[in-house]
Amino acid sequence: MHNSLLLFLEAVAYFGVMVILFRLRRRIGIGVFFCALSVMHFLETYLASAFYVALPFGIVSPGSSVLFSGKLVMLLLVYMKEDATTVRQPIYGLLFGNALMIGLVLLLRQHDIAPLPSGQRPDIAFIDQMGWLMVWGTTLLFVDAILIILLYERLGKYLRKSLFARILISTACVLTFDQIGFFTALHFVTGAPYEVFFGGWYAKMGAALIYSTMLVAYIRWAESHPIPAPRGLGDIFEMLTYRERYEALIQHVGRDGLTGLWHRGRFETDGEQDVAASLASGKPLSLIVLDVDHFKSINDRFGHAEGDRVLRSIAILLRDVAGPADRVYRTGGEEFAVLCPHPQAVARLLGENIRHAVKAANVANLSELTISAGIATLSSSTSSLSDLFAIADQRLYTAKASGRDRIVGEPSAGEQAAHPTLSAGHGN
Ligand code: GH3
Ligand code: MG
Ligand code: MG
Repeated sequence: MHNSLLLFLEAVAYFGVMVILFRLRRRIGIGVFFCALSVMHFLETYLASAFYVALPFGIVSPGSSVLFSGKLVMLLLVYMKEDATTVRQPIYGLLFGNALMIGLVLLLRQHDIAPLPSGQRPDIAFIDQMGWLMVWGTTLLFVDAILIILLYERLGKYLRKSLFARILISTACVLTFDQIGFFTALHFVTGAPYEVFFGGWYAKMGAALIYSTMLVAYIRWAESHPIPAPRGLGDIFEMLTYRERYEALIQHVGRDGLTGLWHRGRFETDGEQDVAASLASGKPLSLIVLDVDHFKSINDRFGHAEGDRVLRSIAILLRDVAGPADRVYRTGGEEFAVLCPHPQAVARLLGENIRHAVKAANVANLSELTISAGIATLSSSTSSLSDLFAIADQRLYTAKASGRDRIVGEPSAGEQAAHPTLSAGHGN
């Protein structure tokens, strides 16, 4: 009786303090709750290997019945009140933390250990006792944590109305699964008798009942937001495995948010690589630098949102007109660049195609929209991307100064003789 009461008090204390930390998550950060949870995990591991008490129905470990069961319920709470993206953090954290702990203990055991002044030696024997059971327990915990969430979601279909039944059944099923999984290993490794299975199982079922009651009470009283409707299992699993974030990351790295074109940073890295490759291989490389004419007036007359829409339409046009080997970047507000593996004449043709396409598409509806561009091609006098960019930019400036709506490239021999300034790129 004495032992049962103490176990009950331990569960209440654990649950009470943990939900207070969880409740304050918006104010103090959820990291506080997660740290406390993992500290409790350490105590749990230690107790489960060395600390058992006798109850009327068998021998029970407070580590498993209070702390382990409590932790699963806490993970379920995080999932219910936050989301899968948040709950997977402690799930993966516990997995990797445990793996690291096992690895470090293996190293620690290799030490020549100095006894304390009292002659006492550290009790590292719990690792010996558990051995690979620790590895098994860690794997089980990972599976349990995912299982309890999936089960809770699945039960939502049948038990929308009864939150208590939903939590109790998920917790009881996962704790039963865990007890079977862990006991089977324990039985074969240490020859643990069946009483240990049933003692532990009764205690875990008691814990499931007490924790479910407290969790429902907490959610009803302290968390005022409604419980979200159940989501599809596939979707949750994707999130739990980090796939969704990884894919999103891959999609967006180097992309400009407004147009989806590659952005300036990507232009610099790609451009430098392309220049180096062209210099090494002797293959041609041209750069077209484009700027929308009088774009400010679009914003001024139709508003910034319309300006954004026009920029997106231009980006789509650029992509359509550019060939598969050409790469299009948004290098600034209404400035774009195209890197293409072509000689000057072909790049100039591409530039003209873009200019005509923008004009013909009538993207700004009420007002004719044009672009100007400067083109530079890698030659013996250019050895870097910034050389190439400087020349293209000068020619763009020339295009603007000489009336806009035009493409300026390398002057032909005749033009060079007539306007010596153009070839140096200092035209005004
Ligand atoms: P020009 O190039 O022909 O000399 O004239 P312009 O009016 O295009 O000249 P400028 O480069 O000075 O102006 C560019 C304008 O583009 C200024 C800014 O308000 C606008 N702009 C820059 N970035 C964005 C954007 O992301 N969205 C919108 N809507 N406007 C932008
Ligand atoms: Mg402009
Ligand atoms: Mg500009």
